[in-house]
Amino acid sequence: MDTLTRYRSMRDFAKTTEPKDAAKTQASKRLRFVIQKHDATRLHYDLRLELDGVFKSWAVTRGPSLDPHDKRLAVEVEDHPLDYGDFEGTIPQGEYGGGTVMLWDRGYWTPEGDARDGLKTGELKFDLDGERLKGSWVLVRMKGRKGERRDNWLLIKHHDGWSVDDGGAAILDEETTSVASGRTMAAIAEGGGPTPTRFMTE
Ligand code: MN
Repeated sequence: MDTLTRYRSMRDFAKTTEPKDAAKTQASKRLRFVIQKHDATRLHYDLRLELDGVFKSWAVTRGPSLDPHDKRLAVEVEDHPLDYGDFEGTIPQGEYGGGTVMLWDRGYWTPEGDARDGLKTGELKFDLDGERLKGSWVLVRMKGRKGERRDNWLLIKHHDGWSVDDGGAAILDEETTSVASGRTMAAIAEGGGPTPTRFMTE
């Protein structure tokens, strides 16, 4: 089964401007990542890691923290097309994920070891080389409770030159504009303003 079947089945492309498939965006030499700030029913940050021609995706409910003591719940969601890495805008209310989406960070990621193995075993270590997030991180899958439909992971920063021991979430309050358009959430919701720049792949 096409890994994006689920993504497509959840959306009405006559109503949402989200990308339909991965037609435009080619896989890059280095693996891309993107974090989208998403003001849906509840504000969250979507972490997307390129792998095998799609974005593996997690909804990080409270957003990433630079403090290694903070374990951030990251709910695994459906794979997204690579075109989604350039999506910024507003999903209509009433549609799946209705609300404003901002390109909050983007860049490249490097898995430590084999990423497919990490996804299987439930421990994925990786480095981020973004505009805002850098250094070493890990996603750890939690043991599922009976009846849970989705896998819950924890996103944790490793100690390194990019970690901070106090106020690790301050970056979420300090960085309030799009890395692709410079717009605030309010400006994106209103529409207009600078067009988001597409990510230039290496
Ligand atoms: Mn989302």
